[in-house]
Amino acid sequence: MQTQKDKARIFSFEFFPPKTPEGVERLAATQRQLAQLGPEFFSVTYGAGGTTRDRTLETVLAIQRDGQAAAPHISCIGSSRESLREVLRTYREHGIRHIVALRGDLPSGMMSAGEFRYASDLVAFIRAETGDHFFIEVAAYPEMHPQARNAQEAVRHFQIKVDAGADSAITQYFYNADAYFHFVDDCEALGIDLPIVPGIMPINNFSQLCRFSDACGAEIPRWIRNTMAGFGDDSASIKAFGLDVVTQLCDRLLSAGAPGLHFYTMNSAGLVSTLWQRLGLS
Ligand code: FAD
Repeated sequence: MQTQKDKARIFSFEFFPPKTPEGVERLAATQRQLAQLGPEFFSVTYGAGGTTRDRTLETVLAIQRDGQAAAPHISCIGSSRESLREVLRTYREHGIRHIVALRGDLPSGMMSAGEFRYASDLVAFIRAETGDHFFIEVAAYPEMHPQARNAQEAVRHFQIKVDAGADSAITQYFYNADAYFHFVDDCEALGIDLPIVPGIMPINNFSQLCRFSDACGAEIPRWIRNTMAGFGDDSASIKAFGLDVVTQLCDRLLSAGAPGLHFYTMNSAGLVSTLWQRLGLS
């Protein structure tokens, strides 16, 4: 059973929109399993340049039909104001009130950045177009976004996004809790006052995780890389060690006052459910 302290925390699960009918079936099963853990909401990613626009909407609506709160991600780079106005209108028509607002990255081959430069422009646009209708989440980077020049500048850019009207933030995943605490302290020093919820990536397929991390700038500490490398193809040991590492990380974050956890589920319930049990959240 959740304690009072747990209830005040925000727990959420992230999905990506499946591409095939089998993927849709599998995700529905995952979602039903994770719904039993009582998350605040499920979020659904949005492909670079709006490439999953319809599938993101379909996935969000399926979650809603199941009686759960759903938050679509939306990205602005490469998009026009009119096209995003249309996306926001569709979300509103379907009663969606929670959104994750991102800049996104230009898909390969797309040259024009469109009418938005940064996520802060998108947040300001959403507020100008829809007032307080949406609860707006934004992204945060305790280990810095790969395009940021230094930590001080990065936190000031984050502040612009918050001041534009964000309600809450979800971080890029990380395995170094100190980076998160340091980022939160820097934000507090600037008077930034919103929940900054750590994004948690369970470790399943280590080579895939290395590829993701290289692309998004998340650091896998050397001791973790070296231990994982020593396991070779022994996927059971990789999974067991990964669970230990991520359980300890979550435990430390929650014990030190993190406002909740956002799990990057990769559309699977297994590891997240095990972490949940180990953390004593159910
Ligand atoms: P921004 O906040 O705009 O920051 C991007 C860069 O610009 C940073 O380096 C920042 O320091 C800099 N910057 C910001 N403002 C200024 C300014 N005023 N002047 C100069 N520089 C500035 N991507 C997707 O395509 N789809 C998704 O569904 C998706 N979901 C995500 C969910 C989470 C929780 C996270 C953490 C990331 C997600 N991403 C997603 C990835 C994200 O789109 C990329 O990391 C992208 O490169 C940056 O997006 P952002 O919203 O953080 O951008």
